[in-house]
Amino acid sequence: MSYRGRFAPSPTGALHFGSLVAAVGSWLVARHAGGEWVVRIEDIDPPREVPGSAASILATLDAFGLSPDGPVMYQSTRGDAYQTAFERLRTEGHVFPCWCSRADLAVHGGMHRHGQCVAAPEPDRSPAWRLRTPDETLRWHDDLQGPQSENLMEVAGDFVIRRVEGFWAYQLACVVDDGEQGITHVVRGADLLDSTGRQIYLQRLLGLNTPGYLHLPLVLDAEGRKLSKSDAAPPVDTTDPLPALRLALERLGVTAPIGPGTPRDLLHAALNEFKPASLRRSSLGGMGEL
Ligand code: GLU
Repeated sequence: MSYRGRFAPSPTGALHFGSLVAAVGSWLVARHAGGEWVVRIEDIDPPREVPGSAASILATLDAFGLSPDGPVMYQSTRGDAYQTAFERLRTEGHVFPCWCSRADLAVHGGMHRHGQCVAAPEPDRSPAWRLRTPDETLRWHDDLQGPQSENLMEVAGDFVIRRVEGFWAYQLACVVDDGEQGITHVVRGADLLDSTGRQIYLQRLLGLNTPGYLHLPLVLDAEGRKLSKSDAAPPVDTTDPLPALRLALERLGVTAPIGPGTPRDLLHAALNEFKPASLRRSSLGGMGEL
């Protein structure tokens, strides 16, 4: 089977070191397998979007020598495909409208586990749409984190696939687009390990193939917190990419050769050294020493 991997950032800020590790990691694993690597901008959450960050993320990938195979997909253009998937789920009875408030759900540990809305329908207010989850344990294998199992009803409950504001939820959009882009392997940060069960379940309902999954350990800052855009982790420096690129490669188990050259040269040299078996499972240090 041919390999097609992807990097799928949300445009909620400039690319920081943690996202760089995910981008380089997904690129390395794909190229090591002789595969393709594509980029998808997950711009389906306008309130969280930072204007200009999609362009800045793409320019940063380019400055670090990471060029996608083929055009970038923008989720903001994919509404019709999400609607089609949603209609299929609705026709087959897997989704239900929900007017529950946070307070309604607080009594149930913040989760929805009834397979139907517990609040009274409010015809004047748009509902969220939730997917009914089964009380059944899903099992899969993560190529780095090992065997996984999850009871969706316990872990996620009936999860939202279309939000009250009408926005499509990440889980649905991600699954539809991984299918559309023919993604065979997903390599991403371990913060999304607990989304994988929901995504596999959606793939089954929508008749889509389940890709392989590999979740990279998170990059933590000096205080042991996840580097994230919301905590305003500093963007990587596109004017001097080599130090951060070298450090990202080291976090991925590759000691890249030092020497003159462009980021692209460094990536290709690293590819010769890279072995998926050298990837570490536990959390990684941040950019402290840069
Ligand atoms: N857009 C998600 C993020 O930036 C990643 C989605 C994925 O890789 O599945 O956290």
